[in-house]
Amino acid sequence: MPELPEVETIRGDLVDLVVGSRIEEVEVLAPALVEEPAVEEFVRRLRGVGISGARRRAKHLIVELIGGDSLVLQLKIGGQFLLVPPVPVPETSLMLVLGLDGGRRLFLRDETGFTRARLLDAEGLDARLAPLGPEPFDDGFTEGYLRGKLGSRRVQIKPALLDQGVVSGIGNIYVDEILYDARLHPRRKANTLSDGEWGALYRAIGENLRAGIEHRGTTFDLYRDVLGRKGHHQDHLRVFLKAGRPCPSGCGGRIVREKVGGRPTFYCPSCQRENGSGGEQTLDLGAL
Ligand SMILES: [Zn+2]
Repeated sequence: MPELPEVETIRGDLVDLVVGSRIEEVEVLAPALVEEPAVEEFVRRLRGVGISGARRRAKHLIVELIGGDSLVLQLKIGGQFLLVPPVPVPETSLMLVLGLDGGRRLFLRDETGFTRARLLDAEGLDARLAPLGPEPFDDGFTEGYLRGKLGSRRVQIKPALLDQGVVSGIGNIYVDEILYDARLHPRRKANTLSDGEWGALYRAIGENLRAGIEHRGTTFDLYRDVLGRKGHHQDHLRVFLKAGRPCPSGCGGRIVREKVGGRPTFYCPSCQRENGSGGEQTLDLGAL
């Protein structure tokens, strides 16, 4: 499932390979893809328009177009954006084909069918992105911000980090790795974290997302970059999908899988204790 590092990788590929091209043909093969405007208008406004940039906001991939429109894609679980050539023409699960000048084509395909697209003007884009919390690499995302946002709330830390209004771009894979590095149980209540734990959590967010970008994303099954290549970060995961394996810290424990906030969750019960793994604790009066 594309999270910040995967969408960021695709964005970089589009900048390197596609920005500066012109969209000559537009073929919508899965009308459910297009959330807005109507499919006919979507096609009409895309056809003949130059691609001026590519950016990312949270897990949204934003293809900027000359004239001010933006093609906003949410790749959800299995969306792939593939450039043909060099990628061979994909045969199945096609949702959208953009024919570019020079004979190349961008294929949007998704075996799960959940990818969604919007063509928005500047005002529509602002409205769409307004509810999102800060980007993890923005100056405004500091340890103080994170603590100020969550530190007085009796919410479980894992679902809180997945809330895109708190911080944008973190999904179910990276959050488990982040909490492992910070030695925080996924169900820890945010208002019980110590000073040291807030610092560890903040650092773990940056380190894990940076590593994911450096490794060009995590591929278990569906994720590919624009040239159809898998990412490498799956080779660097410590807990996600590692149930039953020994904890890589050498603590002697084994990774377990449980549902937290409705999501499959992987953690080490001895490194990530539910009541805190030591250090300063805040008494949770509400639980007494
Ligand atoms: Zn452990």
